[in-house]
Amino acid sequence: MKPTFIHSLVNSPFEDLSLFVRIMRERRAFLFDIGSICRLKPGDLQKITDVFVTHTHIDHFIGFDTLLRALLRRKRPLKVYGPSNITDCVEGKLRGYTWNLIKEYPLKIDVYCISGDKIIASSFHSENRFKRIDYSFSEFDDIILREPLFTIRAIQLDHQIPCLAFSLEEEFHININKASLKEMGLPVGPWLSELKKAIREDRSGDTEFTASNRKYKLKELRDIAKITRGQKISYVTDVSINDENIKKIIEFVRDSDTLYCEAYFMEKDRDRALERFHLTAEITGRIAREARVKNLVVMHFSPKYRNDTDTPEDEAMREFRHPTF
Ligand SMILES: [Zn+2]
Ligand SMILES: [Zn+2]
Repeated sequence: MKPTFIHSLVNSPFEDLSLFVRIMRERRAFLFDIGSICRLKPGDLQKITDVFVTHTHIDHFIGFDTLLRALLRRKRPLKVYGPSNITDCVEGKLRGYTWNLIKEYPLKIDVYCISGDKIIASSFHSENRFKRIDYSFSEFDDIILREPLFTIRAIQLDHQIPCLAFSLEEEFHININKASLKEMGLPVGPWLSELKKAIREDRSGDTEFTASNRKYKLKELRDIAKITRGQKISYVTDVSINDENIKKIIEFVRDSDTLYCEAYFMEKDRDRALERFHLTAEITGRIAREARVKNLVVMHFSPKYRNDTDTPEDEAMREFRHPTF
């Protein structure tokens, strides 16, 4: 089964954080946090349409300038989602430069600030020198973006400051049954992407497709599409150790195919973790185990462990794989 989302961290776990998620068969990608992104290729930067920022500590937001520089001449808008101060932080970044020569540029940046039970939308257009326009707000329950292919949810956690965690869930996965395709004498090709799109958008059974110079109706093609559970990827970082946070995270990341989670400190430095509002690797391992996550990727390690033989990853994995009985 070919996954819909291809995901990987941009940097090593000792460097600034950024998770790059590419959507297969679409020229589109997401970033979760925007720490250093210098390792992404220009073509990958151009695919980024949505950036989800947990909080704006410098190690999670310093890459914004790199992305802005790369996208200035792009027609497709950039959408940025983040916690209660995200709009001020984007505005602050934009005010750090002089913009008298960009009137003809197409870039538009839409910012969605998640604060309490509201999402407040603002916009910055290059045609008016990125002057801030606040234009609407809507209710926030937990969904911040829903499209036929996927849903992105957020929760608000505590890191002394508000910090968001995100999940990306594919609504369902469609596999093409090659045997049925062959039986019907149908070829593989781009028309199958159209078919998948039509199923996702729940279009009428009479929707027509052309394959091998013949017309077929959607209802005649249902058997070649096998529907299975979609992918779930979760991203959690920079979280204080407290019961409320941990309970909320376990619920939120439950049954993820992959959980990306911080393991900044090790259990031997729990006092430091409490002082700095971070999890320990052992707690991260326990969260992943209790949430029945399939695959745990730990990230965001304190540089103090750089030369240690027993790493935050070792500690998290011991706890994650520890039998529960
Ligand atoms: Zn951090
Ligand atoms: Zn932080």
